[in-house]
Amino acid sequence: MANLVEIARKTNEWTVKNVDGMELIFSPRLSELDFVTHAFTTRLGGETKAPFDSFNLGGSVGDDETKRDAINNRMRLCNALSVDFSNLFVPGQVHSRNVEIVREREHMPDLKGVDGLLTEKNATPLLLHFADCVPVMVVETRKKLIGIFHAGWRGTAASIVSHGVERMVKEMGGDPRNMVGAVGPAIGPCCYPTSDDVARALSETVSTGPDGLIGRNGNQPAPDLKAFNALQLLECGVEQVDVSNFCTACNPGMFYSHRQSGGTTGRQGAMIALRGV
Ligand SMILES: [Zn+2]
Repeated sequence: MANLVEIARKTNEWTVKNVDGMELIFSPRLSELDFVTHAFTTRLGGETKAPFDSFNLGGSVGDDETKRDAINNRMRLCNALSVDFSNLFVPGQVHSRNVEIVREREHMPDLKGVDGLLTEKNATPLLLHFADCVPVMVVETRKKLIGIFHAGWRGTAASIVSHGVERMVKEMGGDPRNMVGAVGPAIGPCCYPTSDDVARALSETVSTGPDGLIGRNGNQPAPDLKAFNALQLLECGVEQVDVSNFCTACNPGMFYSHRQSGGTTGRQGAMIALRGV
């Protein structure tokens, strides 16, 4: 059997494309699926003022003008990708492992305290926000199911991605062998010195050699959060996983980074929808 840790650590180059003035990033494997629309946004392409410049999508940062901009920016993103803004689902993220299956908007439960969304409904775009935390998308290609997850260290330590895949299997009829995963731009081990407790909590989420996913940064452990999420997917039986080579903290001109900015910054987004072809 191939070494899953080695596969999880392997990043690949993703497509960066200017779409209607927005600088967007696309997973190579998800781009091959004609029934899915997806994008990982950057901070480039909007008009929002510093320190939230310029394409902030997060609705809970900044003043009223910034918040209005965020709604406009979400609308522009939906229009550029030809998905229905009026059907957009945006949860209130809290670094939990809570995942909701969403279908009809009017029958929606409160999406506060939710960090993962799943759906099998066409034309139902799902949008989550990030500033260093790991964006993860999963597509089941036979049943045509999609999932998206917000995995900072807490969500990763709580195995939100494994939990989401399990629900796609048990409640939606998915099969991990038909799933494709994409682990997007996030803080890398290069910029993420943390505590022994965090490193230990992350290690407990996987069974194959977590040591290979934790480097050293000075005297501190430096976990590779993207690789942990990729390994969780691989251990669930998802065989095809793209991992972005972008570190958000290394590229402050391109991405919002909570850690690099000292905490006051905007949010990039990750959006996915079933196109229904
Ligand atoms: Zn870095």
